[in-house]
Amino acid sequence: MDCKKYFGFFDEEHPEPYVIKSGTLPIIISAPHTYRHFREGRVKEAERGAGVIAMALGDMKSTHWMVKAREDGDDPNYSADSPYKKALAAYMTENGVRYLIDLHELAPSRPTDVNPLINGGKNIKGNEDLYGEIKNVFINGGFTVTEDFPYAGKTDNRVTAYVNRKTGLFSLQLELNSRLLYPGGEHCRLDDMLKAFGNIVGAIMRHDMKKDG
Ligand SMILES: [Zn+2]
Repeated sequence: MDCKKYFGFFDEEHPEPYVIKSGTLPIIISAPHTYRHFREGRVKEAERGAGVIAMALGDMKSTHWMVKAREDGDDPNYSADSPYKKALAAYMTENGVRYLIDLHELAPSRPTDVNPLINGGKNIKGNEDLYGEIKNVFINGGFTVTEDFPYAGKTDNRVTAYVNRKTGLFSLQLELNSRLLYPGGEHCRLDDMLKAFGNIVGAIMRHDMKKDG
């Protein structure tokens, strides 16, 4: 897939600090660090590859997506009071969106490909089967997966922790190694990653039907 237009999204000027695009499936992919931001005085580089996955998947599978569109001083995965995650939780409730995947990027120096933040199982309680399927999609796609390493997802101000607290809905944070996501890079596997996310959408929808039926 030619992902140039998705990367180009971040070169445009956006009036709002975040953009939400609706889809038809009850799944939203969020990428709250698609703009450079500051955390305790240190600069954190933009995670645009994560946003590209969210947007491209929306076009491929009609999932909802939400990305940061400009800097506004909000670090949704760290600030206690974050307009981004408030809007996300409200959007899910109002639009019948039942599954959140919040995407982030690991530094390329990290050896692992995918780091799910499950906090020893606490963050996926009651959804172990679905989580297991998501994990297997990555493994079957040839990606290495390390649960809770380097990040375990213990802190309360994370986007997924906030949304789960407010809505009770399935909320999973995934860190993807950034070396896999940027076209032109030696280790880029963006197409494989998008294919994996397509399979994850399939797994979630099968799970969702089983639950309803
Ligand atoms: Zn991040």
